[in-house]
Amino acid sequence: MSAGIIDGKAFAAQLRARVEAEGARMKREHGVVPGLATVLVGDDPASEVYIRNKNKTAEAIGFHSVHRHLPAEASEAQVLSVVRELNADKAVHGILVQMPLPKQVREAAVLDTLDPAKDVDALTPTNAGLLLGGRASLVSCTPAGVMMLLKEYLGDVAGLDALVIGRSLLFGKPAAQLLLAANATVTMAHSRTRDLAAAARRADILVAAIGKAQFVPGDWVKPGATVIDVGINRVDAGGGKTKIVGDVAYDAAAKVAGLITPVPGGVGAMTIVCLMRNTLIAAAALNGLPTPGV
Ligand code: NAP
Repeated sequence: MSAGIIDGKAFAAQLRARVEAEGARMKREHGVVPGLATVLVGDDPASEVYIRNKNKTAEAIGFHSVHRHLPAEASEAQVLSVVRELNADKAVHGILVQMPLPKQVREAAVLDTLDPAKDVDALTPTNAGLLLGGRASLVSCTPAGVMMLLKEYLGDVAGLDALVIGRSLLFGKPAAQLLLAANATVTMAHSRTRDLAAAARRADILVAAIGKAQFVPGDWVKPGATVIDVGINRVDAGGGKTKIVGDVAYDAAAKVAGLITPVPGGVGAMTIVCLMRNTLIAAAALNGLPTPGV
């Protein structure tokens, strides 16, 4: 038996079309063009690719797109000044500051300055707190994408045992909160977890966000479980080439799981589209319009 594939790419394409249509309607009926600003400090090549893709997608669906690039040696005061300027810019509804930041710029200082209403990555204390209280309107993009895929493929997750491996502010913590809010029984694991294999084998939903190539072996997967692989790891593919693999040993896990996300084409495909969705939601809220139903 082989697992069903959770086709994040196909779902993301449909979601993107809905977000684009809703953005066009907002412009037509209210004269509001959703605007996304990205901020990159330094020249990390991977971050440059992420940012470029985000701006390209925003432009492709008719959003206003702004990019600010600061040198690696920019001071914290300079970065905060750019964030304040974007906070005040009426054409910008979503601001994304690409992490990680150079060491002289404190992430906490940036997040404390960023207007929570424009915090489309949902990393500010305000949005993290609203998520805990179950009343967030802006939810971190990758966990939001995972929940949409689970809803589409599993339906109700109430009562299921979910294990989230990884406890980052960007993914693991919000993912666990969202699963809890959906009434799953959630366990969070991390590098200090004792007997991770046993915890994994109990999980009806196994979520891996570790950042280690093919770390989760097939025999950790409970037969019939849903496996969500968040990892993006570049590995040697031979012949001087590289390829992207997830945090789960895909071939072995797919023989045991009921459903599994491929890498690429699974979770990763959802993230940018969810960012556009958050920008649309922020644009509506900042203009006193109802939350778009996308
Ligand atoms: P991160 O900040 O890189 O942290 C990794 C987490 O994994 C930490 O909580 C760490 O535990 C845990 N961990 C490390 N080694 C472990 C081990 N041996 N056993 C159990 N847990 C272990 O996490 P992240 O930013 O969420 O990224 C994780 C992965 O997801 C990366 O591959 C990243 O590229 C990918 N990602 C993809 C998307 C997307 O769009 N698809 C979005 C975000 C992230 P400690 O806390 O104890 O150190």
